[in-house]
Amino acid sequence: MKFVSTRGQTEPHSFSEAVRIGLAPDKGLFVPEELPDLGQEMLSWQGKTYPELCYEFFKHFATDIPSDELKALVETAYSRFDHPDHAPLVKLSDKLYVLELFHGPTLAFKDFALQLLGCLYERQVAQSGQGINVLGATSGDTGAAAINGLLGKKGVNIFILYPDGRVSPLQERQMTCLEEENVFPLAIKGSFDDAQAALKEVFGDKDFSREVHLSAVNSINLARILAQCVYYIYAWLKLPAESRDRATFVVPTGNFGNVLAGWLASRMGMVVDGFRVATNQNDILHRFFSAGDYSLGAVQPSHAPSMDIQVASNFERFLYFSLGGNAEMTREIMEGFKKDGAFQVGGMAITEFMTSSRMDDAEIAETITRVYKEFGYVSDPHTACGFKDIDHLEPAIVLSTAHPAKFPDVVEACTGISPTHASLEALKAKDVQKYSVEPTEQAIKAFIRNHQA
Ligand SMILES: *Cc1c(COP(=O)(O)O)cnc(C)c1O
Repeated sequence: MKFVSTRGQTEPHSFSEAVRIGLAPDKGLFVPEELPDLGQEMLSWQGKTYPELCYEFFKHFATDIPSDELKALVETAYSRFDHPDHAPLVKLSDKLYVLELFHGPTLAFKDFALQLLGCLYERQVAQSGQGINVLGATSGDTGAAAINGLLGKKGVNIFILYPDGRVSPLQERQMTCLEEENVFPLAIKGSFDDAQAALKEVFGDKDFSREVHLSAVNSINLARILAQCVYYIYAWLKLPAESRDRATFVVPTGNFGNVLAGWLASRMGMVVDGFRVATNQNDILHRFFSAGDYSLGAVQPSHAPSMDIQVASNFERFLYFSLGGNAEMTREIMEGFKKDGAFQVGGMAITEFMTSSRMDDAEIAETITRVYKEFGYVSDPHTACGFKDIDHLEPAIVLSTAHPAKFPDVVEACTGISPTHASLEALKAKDVQKYSVEPTEQAIKAFIRNHQA
């Protein structure tokens, strides 16, 4: 299997190359050259463990990794989850399920992708003999998941910039209390935007990038999307067989990565009724799916901060496949969007298959309370967005993207319950280890040079 760019001006790459490069040289995103039809085969995966199913799926894509190696890699990637099912499907009623995706090391669904990506990076370093330095900026969740994915990996160092004093104490502990020598949390004086601006400058220096073998953490890596297809199929196979084709997956959405993965699984043969894109008040995707309007607004902070996003980078992959793999048209639309901050897709078939919803902060709070009263289920603010207007969906599977203990204040205010998790409690006993760095290109480069893998 080869991988091509959504913008059509990049040579086809192998799986490992596409994963290593991340963003395609023509600024497009890597996608499989063709989507395999796995409909029949999927049915035979029922009863497999999570890592087994993941292997069965990936062997269609990671065709340049020998099977025994791939099998071992997947086993390692999912060895740090705290639930035997990895992604348990919890039944709240006859027509409502929650798919819990928060049983990984940082208690958020990003672990599914980043634990695997970390193992893929480590394999690459072992093969090439060349170390990698991974650099990213975070306003919270992604940084912790990325750091945990690379924790202790040989030949890989990770540098994460975050605004000092502006992430929650819990989030900071998840990044800074890890006691591993390859992890460098860089607390900068300034805002998240300052961190991002400095990061862009560092990546903009191609000579530096080559010198230290710099790599980005971001949500556009092909391996992340593929890793996320797996839990949809896993959950789908656990539904009663007669309700599978009626099911709707409801996905709390920011960057569009998560829901895109489900949609791709459906294009590969997982037959469902549809998908629901659930946004918070940052609703660019809701406006698109309800009115065909994709135009930028300003980001407004919300109770569900990991969905406070206006540009949904993975949307480009959706566009590409919706346009029947037309790279030229995808390129034109994306370049137009960069210029104008908006586009209208009149002729594109936006079917009932992908619907959307939006929830503001007041509704998020009401929903956490209601779901607790009605089902005795404690949900985090991101997951809560998924419970909007879903009564007519039978069955609905709401994806739970984070453990409630990650957002204890809102959850306690709404339910009276103070959610905890042993792994977060354990962090409180550890020392914070962080490095203070000025948010300038020079300071960050100097730090990386001195601490590179
Ligand atoms: C990242 C994140 C999301 C949004 O996922 P996308 O793939 O960006 O759509 C939702 N909830 C939580 C808790 C997250 O960390």
